[in-house]
Amino acid sequence: MVSAAAYGVSGPDSKFEKLTIDRRELGPKDVLIEIKYAGICHSDIHTARNEWKGTSYPCVPGHEIVGIVAETGSAVEKYKVGDRVGVGCFVDSCGQCVACVAGEEQYCTKRVVATYNSPLPDGSYTQGGYSTHVVVTESFVLSIPDGLELDVAAPLLCAGITLYSPLKHWNAGPGKQVAIIGMGGLGHVGVKIANALGAEVTVLSQSLSKEEDGKRFGAQHYYATSDRKTFKELRSRFDLIINTVSVNLDLDAYLSMLAINGTLVELGLPEKPLQMRAFSLAANRRSIAGSMVGGLPQTQEMLDFCAERGIGAEIETISADRIDEAYERVVASRVRYRFVIDAATF
Ligand SMILES: [Zn+2]
Ligand SMILES: [Zn+2]
Repeated sequence: MVSAAAYGVSGPDSKFEKLTIDRRELGPKDVLIEIKYAGICHSDIHTARNEWKGTSYPCVPGHEIVGIVAETGSAVEKYKVGDRVGVGCFVDSCGQCVACVAGEEQYCTKRVVATYNSPLPDGSYTQGGYSTHVVVTESFVLSIPDGLELDVAAPLLCAGITLYSPLKHWNAGPGKQVAIIGMGGLGHVGVKIANALGAEVTVLSQSLSKEEDGKRFGAQHYYATSDRKTFKELRSRFDLIINTVSVNLDLDAYLSMLAINGTLVELGLPEKPLQMRAFSLAANRRSIAGSMVGGLPQTQEMLDFCAERGIGAEIETISADRIDEAYERVVASRVRYRFVIDAATF
């Protein structure tokens, strides 16, 4: 066993406290990572507070993990001590189903193991990246290219791939009109990546308060959705609209902005079912779709792409004793744009 310092919660209403957790003994294909930074994702908050139900306590969240390889198992081939690495939302899967064979492990139909709060065969459950160390099988470890600083790379492991995957799947690129709804942790990375892919990018945000940032990140256009004129002006404009916000939108209004064959992709997970009129889809032969993070091969592709293009997340680095405060600010959308915890403070 490897003993690791961590920060976790003991119940849905508890504050974060320092814990000592055990990481498994290194198997032949395992990598021991000394964590340097862990990003704070909104999913961490939902899980720590049991808002999605089924949280096991104590709970150590964190699935935007970056660090340095500290030790390798006897059969590890891809990594050596000292390598810069990352871990995202998943740490294992069945490896045999259609999704796994296609490198889309996030859609594994048999046994996908999330980085935290996922049951293990021995009755225990996984603990995430708010910690000094983690042990992960090498096939679920990503390489962080040299051109990318570790701290700004951390949020790419969830926020980055969550945007990169649908942008690639729906062919965002030159000649394409792409809109990103929301300029938060997910949205701001989406603007950077969509711009780097060559698309013409529009931000649809509640207000214009982040317009300057949005344009600096690569948006050509920026509209406030609180202004109803926006919807009229942008009628049938976009090939792709990506919604990063977890609220129930007026979908008919948003769908009206899609061009012929346009697709609206829901990344947010609002509590209530989505509602729209069938006519909003029939007109312009529109589609509505969903997408969930990305597989290992595509996550590596995204990291390499971001390193080449100089894309990192915009971050505010905090110490571990400020996680509770950071959670409040994420919920209130008062962070520009992603919190990253310095693992030296765990
Ligand atoms: Zn996440
Ligand atoms: Zn599988």
